[in-house]
Amino acid sequence: MEITEDVFFRFHPSTTKVKDEICIFCYSNTKITREHVLPKWLFEKSTKTLFISSVNKQTQTYNKAVIPTCSACNNSILSHIENHIIQVIHRLGKAKVYRDDDLSDIVRWMEILDYKLQVYDCRRKYIKYGNSEYDYNWGIFPVAMMRHFIDMDPFKAHDFLRRSQRRITVKAKTDRLNSLVVFNTAKPHFNFFIQPDEYIFVSLPMFKFAFFYFLKKKYNHHIEASEEALFIMEKVFNS
Ligand SMILES: [Zn+2]
Repeated sequence: MEITEDVFFRFHPSTTKVKDEICIFCYSNTKITREHVLPKWLFEKSTKTLFISSVNKQTQTYNKAVIPTCSACNNSILSHIENHIIQVIHRLGKAKVYRDDDLSDIVRWMEILDYKLQVYDCRRKYIKYGNSEYDYNWGIFPVAMMRHFIDMDPFKAHDFLRRSQRRITVKAKTDRLNSLVVFNTAKPHFNFFIQPDEYIFVSLPMFKFAFFYFLKKKYNHHIEASEEALFIMEKVFNS
């Protein structure tokens, strides 16, 4: 079985028997730890920070949003990436012109965030929409599947997850740089939204930066990506 299959079906209501948790990066089932979906430093240590799922409008504190990874992946690769990204962001803050290798690293990081978030949505139950009563028909289904409720294609969530996982295994990111938009922002708060298989937005208030990344769309000119990103941000923030 593939990693994404395990992730997708583990919390599906038709799954009756589950094996031990696996690491979502390497399939190991030894020394499984809880990895935060969104890293701590993004929130400047305010553990009560909430984020809202666009699917069911339920809020979640970031410190409860965790996914399984083995300690080998967690301590070596993942923590190394986080430390490296903090350095890269510091460098971007001082730079007049951004280096391509730094931007490639931000792309990699955005892809990992997207994957972790999709995994998390597969592990979380829908429960209900907004302030309504518990949804007896659909409450038991994973959020990731309910995202495709309207287009009646719940397995699209598995395709999305698989594509997301595949993206992080592609080494070279140079042809993806036009799809990354770096914004300078003075707004002093954390913000974040995602449309799986489409785009992801993260602001880092302590660095006065925000990143918008189109996960698969390609642009001949960077300005096209930034115009589209601005258009989407305006829609999201005013909804
Ligand atoms: Zn692992």
